[in-house]
Amino acid sequence: MPKLKLALYWAASCGGCDVAVLDINEKILDVAEMADIVLWPIAMDFKYHHVEAMDDGSIDVCLFNGSVRNTEQEKIAKLLRQKSKVMVAFGSCACFGGIPALANFFNRDLAFERAYVEAPTNANAERVFPQTLTKVAEGELELPEFWDTVLALDQVVAVEYYVPGCPPPVDLILKVVDALATNSLPPPGSVIAAEKTLCDECPRTKEEKKITKIYRPHEIIPDPEKCLLEQGIICMGPATRGGCGARCIEANMPCRGCFGPPAGVQDQGAKMLSALASIYEVKDEAEIARMIEEVKDPAGTFYRFGMSTSMLKRKRI
Ligand code: SF4
Ligand code: SF4
Repeated sequence: MPKLKLALYWAASCGGCDVAVLDINEKILDVAEMADIVLWPIAMDFKYHHVEAMDDGSIDVCLFNGSVRNTEQEKIAKLLRQKSKVMVAFGSCACFGGIPALANFFNRDLAFERAYVEAPTNANAERVFPQTLTKVAEGELELPEFWDTVLALDQVVAVEYYVPGCPPPVDLILKVVDALATNSLPPPGSVIAAEKTLCDECPRTKEEKKITKIYRPHEIIPDPEKCLLEQGIICMGPATRGGCGARCIEANMPCRGCFGPPAGVQDQGAKMLSALASIYEVKDEAEIARMIEEVKDPAGTFYRFGMSTSMLKRKRI
């Protein structure tokens, strides 16, 4: 059987998804056995022009991690789409925008101001910002144009499969590898994870308890047997797709929502807000105000991974 041609690419991401591929340990040898890697910027020295020279559709599978926030990432997403039979949004940033999409609460000017002027480690009294075109003695230097809005991969090109997680856990990656090896991928459009919520696979005891106060994780040591949400810690389990093996819950930490919304839920943040409102016991408006005050970072809590594909998509500035 001829070897598959496999491409791995990172756009706006931290590199964790690429490292997660290496975390499959000796199984990476199975990947090498079944596939020739034709692009993997973090690990191998292929150039874009090598991909451009390939026939359309000649890459069997592209695992694309990272969201899309500039013209270079858009160009390569479109190039890899053209060259690939199967495009996989790999990791939360490619699936839903991920952490980079928290920038959608700002815009490019505000992001640049923070990154190049305000950040405490900067010394930039001249307010020098990156330019798309810079003339130097040797000619012109070009940088990609940075967008106001961070997008998920399927907001730029068509995607066949979604593998969520920040980063995707090893057993899900192995599931994808096995499905590729045995030519048994699920129907296009599938999310390679559970259909139901994380709460459905969580081993903790739920008592249908109401709460009267919200705690941040460092403020209490929660009972490791009981539901974190019912102990007053915002756990995104009710609004998050299962399939990660409850990794954070096992470490006595709340779920942050990296698997995105479960099937049938469009807006993970709105779903979580509704779940929280249903267990929070308040008597009057003053207590509602106190509750809102207790959620210290509503945007980062409810939309930490899902801003690009939420109903909000971005803040109007
Ligand atoms: S809210 Fe969190 S701790 Fe509670 S059942 Fe759901 S996943 Fe488990
Ligand atoms: S518990 Fe939540 S945040 Fe942690 S890995 Fe699972 S889905 Fe992601």
